[in-house]
Amino acid sequence: MTGQVALVTGASRGIGRAVSMKLAAAGVYVVATATTESGAAETIAAITAAGGRGEAVKLDVTSAEAVESLFKTIHTQQGRFDILINNAGITKDGLLVRMKDSDWDAVLDTNLKGAFHCLREASKIMTRARYGRVVNISSVVGEMGNPGQINYCASKAGLIGLTKSAARELAKRNITVNAVAPGFIETDMTAVLTEKSRESLLLNIPMERLGSVDDVAHAVSFLASPASGYITGQLLSVNGGMYM
Ligand code: NAP
Repeated sequence: MTGQVALVTGASRGIGRAVSMKLAAAGVYVVATATTESGAAETIAAITAAGGRGEAVKLDVTSAEAVESLFKTIHTQQGRFDILINNAGITKDGLLVRMKDSDWDAVLDTNLKGAFHCLREASKIMTRARYGRVVNISSVVGEMGNPGQINYCASKAGLIGLTKSAARELAKRNITVNAVAPGFIETDMTAVLTEKSRESLLLNIPMERLGSVDDVAHAVSFLASPASGYITGQLLSVNGGMYM
């Protein structure tokens, strides 16, 4: 994958950072984004220290203008664009009856519309190049639902539909679009879980542990590689055997 160019959204920490490092280790130039100027700087420092290449960029995926502008810059500066990883995501949990419109909108705008913004711009470049790999980070709860996460689950289920539709539309241009559905992974997002909810979660995970960010990054980097060229429109679960 040496010389390929990737954009990883939400690359300041957690899964996004692990995926960025895995792609960079395979020779990919990684544009690692976060919502602040310096947010992804540590990710790039780690990539550089390991002999890889990339840059940290500020990007709020909810802004269509910012996304369009970043894709233009990447294409102008790098001359190509090969891999999009739609990883940026937030939670704003609450029970259905108390869910505020603003919390619904924030989660859908970031997790689903943000991915659409990036995919729309990426597909313009990839279509012309007749090559592309897109991986959308969904979630196990997008398939099974979760009490208190109606906005988050809807966004993650929406990403599966977006993936399947884009896969059909872009297949003839040699662009694959797949989704990865992590189970419960050790990151800042799950650090808020109480010991009690952790214990009850583990009862439903046959492997009896939460996943690591590297567990997810391995799966994502395969789907981002040329080796996955005949796989598109798929949802790959990385969840320790946690099936419904
Ligand atoms: P995390 O540690 O909370 O990191 C979230 C990332 O998203 C951060 O880099 C954050 O940037 C970025 N982000 C938030 N809002 C953004 C916006 N408007 N525009 C651009 N970037 C934005 O999350 P994680 O646990 O690594 O999860 C990564 C992805 O995997 C998410 O989509 C999540 O839903 C999904 N997932 C996670 C789990 C899990 O158990 N952890 C399970 C299933 C799916 P800042 O640092 O600038 O805020």
